[in-house]
Amino acid sequence: MLYGAIEAGGTKFVCAVGDEKGNLIERIQIPTTVPDETMPEVIRFFSEYQLDAMGIGSFGPINVDTTSPTYGNITTTPKPGWKDYPLLQTIKEEFEVPVGFHTDVNAAALGESKVGAAAGLDSCLYITVGTGIGAGAVVGGRLLQGLSHPEMGHIAIRKHPDDLYKGRCPYHHDCLEGLASGPAIEERWGKPASNLADRDEVWELEAYYIAQAIAQYILILSPQKIILGGGVSKQEQIFPLIHNQVKKVLNGYVSLPELETKVADYIVKPGLGDDAGIIGSLLLADLAYQQKG
Ligand code: ADP
Ligand code: ZN
Repeated sequence: MLYGAIEAGGTKFVCAVGDEKGNLIERIQIPTTVPDETMPEVIRFFSEYQLDAMGIGSFGPINVDTTSPTYGNITTTPKPGWKDYPLLQTIKEEFEVPVGFHTDVNAAALGESKVGAAAGLDSCLYITVGTGIGAGAVVGGRLLQGLSHPEMGHIAIRKHPDDLYKGRCPYHHDCLEGLASGPAIEERWGKPASNLADRDEVWELEAYYIAQAIAQYILILSPQKIILGGGVSKQEQIFPLIHNQVKKVLNGYVSLPELETKVADYIVKPGLGDDAGIIGSLLLADLAYQQKG
């Protein structure tokens, strides 16, 4: 099989072709400007291939209700030109093959669950901490969605008593994303997160917030593996801090080795590195092909 994959992000579109095992054959990156500029380049790239199916993992929020007339649209983004943009429809009309469509984080969760850090397990959670915070999940071998897709970055968490930063989520101010995204770190501390590597207090506070969220996800979803990706997670010193904080928050209540002695093997880096999203999108194409969607 030859599949096409699109990881549609707010700053760039990664486009790739590959096979049903998640092997990438060719890839390009296209800047996300406005649809009239970005999409013709996306289409040009794939036009050279005879594809059997395609998969899209998109930034959101997106409409994932297959019965809706606007299924496959990007919905409420502030990004100029992309609000209500029919991303799935545009690709389907051009290529006339089955196309799988999910959030970027659900695609990454699928990639990690099939050929990454959670291979062999039938559940996992993939969290990205970058420009925004979001998570996707595979539960019982299926991608988690219902009324819409989960929005796990916008949960309420307890503010640290010493943290005076007000938060930057336009909807909720001090939700998880409002307090702990890359831009929130930069605004709170006055420097980009990547320039704060040696400031222990930055990563202690970040771990305090991320660990609270992870504890909630564990209590609600009980995933067999938690994968933490995104730009901010490149600060690897945060992993042991998160491991300790998660143990502290759960306080022995979920009494399993994964949450005690083996926590470092339970909350891990992406097995696929930065390719979780694009490889997952390729595997979305395979799902669409199997379902002839
Ligand atoms: P996006 O979320 O836009 O897809 P990223 O996951 O790379 O992209 O997230 C970008 C955010 O992550 C920015 O706020 C940036 O400051 C932060 N970031 C990127 N690289 C690093 C790094 N090495 N260390 C800390 N923060 C980083
Ligand atoms: Zn929010």
